[in-house]
Amino acid sequence: MKSALITSVLVAVIALVIVSTQTQERQVSLVVIHGTVVTMDPAARVIADGAVAIDGAEIVAVDASAAIQREFRGATTIDATGQVVLPGLINTHTHAPMVLFRGLADDLALMEWLTKYIFPAEAKTVSPEFVRAGTRLAALEMIQSGTTTYTDMYYFEEEIAKETRAAGLRGVLGQTVIQFPVADAKTPADALVRAEAFLKAFKDDPLITPAVAPHAMYTLDGATLLAARSLAMRYGVPTLIHLAETQEEVKTAQERYQSTPVGYLDRLGFLGAGVLAAHGVWVSESEIAVLRQRAVGVSHNPESNMKLASGTAPVPAYLSAGVALGLGTDGAASNNDLDMFEAMRTASLLHKLQSGDPRAVGARTVLEMATIGGARALGMSDRLGSLETGKRADVIVVGMDSARQTPVYDPLSHLVYTTRGDDVRTTIVNGKVLMRDRKMLTLNEATVLSESRAWGDRIRALFAN
Ligand SMILES: [Zn+2]
Repeated sequence: MKSALITSVLVAVIALVIVSTQTQERQVSLVVIHGTVVTMDPAARVIADGAVAIDGAEIVAVDASAAIQREFRGATTIDATGQVVLPGLINTHTHAPMVLFRGLADDLALMEWLTKYIFPAEAKTVSPEFVRAGTRLAALEMIQSGTTTYTDMYYFEEEIAKETRAAGLRGVLGQTVIQFPVADAKTPADALVRAEAFLKAFKDDPLITPAVAPHAMYTLDGATLLAARSLAMRYGVPTLIHLAETQEEVKTAQERYQSTPVGYLDRLGFLGAGVLAAHGVWVSESEIAVLRQRAVGVSHNPESNMKLASGTAPVPAYLSAGVALGLGTDGAASNNDLDMFEAMRTASLLHKLQSGDPRAVGARTVLEMATIGGARALGMSDRLGSLETGKRADVIVVGMDSARQTPVYDPLSHLVYTTRGDDVRTTIVNGKVLMRDRKMLTLNEATVLSESRAWGDRIRALFAN
């Protein structure tokens, strides 16, 4: 009798404890649970059975699954058992609509490639309809391969922004300013007017960071370069530019200005925080120090540099100088895809070979470049690039159970040396699930592919005779 009483009291106490802990659970929009969580946070935490709690657009907790389960209940729960949970990848340099020129012309010298194929194709096709279709295809490819933020330099950037927003991706999108007449501007002055209208229209967008993209030092005069830079500074937005990509560019800087590309831009007063320089292949040690001093971010594009035989960027020197270094694919016409996993692997292998040191640019280093490094290069590391409380919920879930990935000793090694974009299962941007278990939720995959093939037919016809 007495023991029965004790038992019933005990049951009541246990029930009370359960009820009280349940009522302490905080309701949140999304929980990703039971994955290997690679945080890329300052402590380099990797949580074996980890979870991420997301509420709205924000990460509210990153911890062991058991701790997250005690504290949070998700309106939606994604089980990531056997998978890796990672900050979304940040592509720091591309020209998204150029996916429609993918494979149009390969294996050519840079100038022949540009003047015989890319420029003529652009002159005949680039329009609001073209960039919208190209952006949808690029967005599909990026979501499917784990990119959550991309940096773009192209024309009709407001159309690119609308499609990017509709796809749910995050974009740092630069309206191009270039000296010669292009599809969306007859003069650089027109381009600057367009750029300012674009900045005004998208200034407060949660997904789109509008930017100004003066093309390069060799395609613009000094006055226009400075006008583009000061426009970006006036609005507090990034300035995107190609810099020191080829030896040809160095030669041009020497002939026109008796300087180097970096030396010339520095003399002009162009370099400073908020500038993101793509490529940075042909730079000296002292110029790397200048870029560091001026707080310029650099985007490394190993596949484009290799395919166009531009040269090898001095990545180990950038890293040891402390330059904010991100990774990019460049446009798909010179890559020929937007897969950031492939870009990571290529970067690592290239710099091992180039330096003769297999320890150079290891898995963690290159993963940093594709995540928090890219966020730093963009000046957005307070919001993006790692799984930390208070940051935007840009998260990917990557499958780790293919034959190619078996067995797993070190998830970081696998992410860089064996994983492909196709292994990404789920992509989340700003707390919204864009792809779940390979199923696209914001884009109609079949429609995007068929309209892209139709564009391919039109472009092929341009070169038929
Ligand atoms: Zn480029």
